[in-house]
Amino acid sequence: MVDLHEAARKVLRTVRPHIGEGKVATYIPALGEVDPKQFGFAVASVDGDVYGVGDQDVRFSLQSISKVFTLALVLSHDDEAIWKRVHREPSGSAFNSLFQLEFEKGIPRNPFINAGAIVVTDQLLADTGDALGSLRGLLRAETGNPDLHVDSVTAASESETGHRNRALAHLMADFGNMLNPVEHALDHYFRQCSITISAQELARAGLLLARHGLRADGSRLLTPKDARRIVSLMLTCGPYDAAGEFAYRIGLPCKSGVGGGILAVVPDRCAAVAWGPGLDEHGNSVTAALALDTFDSLTGWSIF
Ligand code: GLN
Repeated sequence: MVDLHEAARKVLRTVRPHIGEGKVATYIPALGEVDPKQFGFAVASVDGDVYGVGDQDVRFSLQSISKVFTLALVLSHDDEAIWKRVHREPSGSAFNSLFQLEFEKGIPRNPFINAGAIVVTDQLLADTGDALGSLRGLLRAETGNPDLHVDSVTAASESETGHRNRALAHLMADFGNMLNPVEHALDHYFRQCSITISAQELARAGLLLARHGLRADGSRLLTPKDARRIVSLMLTCGPYDAAGEFAYRIGLPCKSGVGGGILAVVPDRCAAVAWGPGLDEHGNSVTAALALDTFDSLTGWSIF
């Protein structure tokens, strides 16, 4: 029997000397303002208990972790059509890389690199008329916090500097792989990435996947098969071109974001979230990766 509270405390003890390591993302200027000397860790067990330590209640920018939940919403609309618009292979290149997209005729490698996530948001927008509103509604319900919101300063900062994301979206539009006008889809994409959420809240939301698609209120959002598919994509594509290293080192399906958060899912057991703003060269948080590595060693819950 694993004592999750004790495990969380040990994670903090291990990570403490490393807090502040890595570099905060500065390509989105608002993220560059975040104090790097913060660290939070939270584990939500499938029976609903949450154990957290450190800055577990401090809200951070969700960024690419949002991509897991937009994909869940698209699949919940029974939308197999999405798999004609995006592949399911690791890219082996940076999350915002352009070159593969041209070779592969505007079909992104997977839903977790930026190009793939823009397609998923575009599909959700076509399905619902309000991609951001659908995502925010889901996260509010799963975290139990109706005040979860978009940080408008970060969203504006993303939009002002989002030349690469615009280039990706326009290239896909040129290949006929956008349903909505580029600026409209990107507006939803920038704002979904700018939702702020704490480690404790995100761990609660992550239970959706640990419970194979069951929501906090007991209703079903995803079929067990779709939930398993999302988790498999987290393992192969979640930490971008470091997915192999993450599988080797941590052995848990993870999704990272340049806000410094990493969500890990242990099916049937828990969702764990670690957050530290300093990133490595792949855009994954240094302290969050160390925290999940430690958590895996303490619990033995690697899926391998
Ligand atoms: N909003 C970020 C971007 O579009 C998301 C990237 C990330 O978290 N890796 O660049």
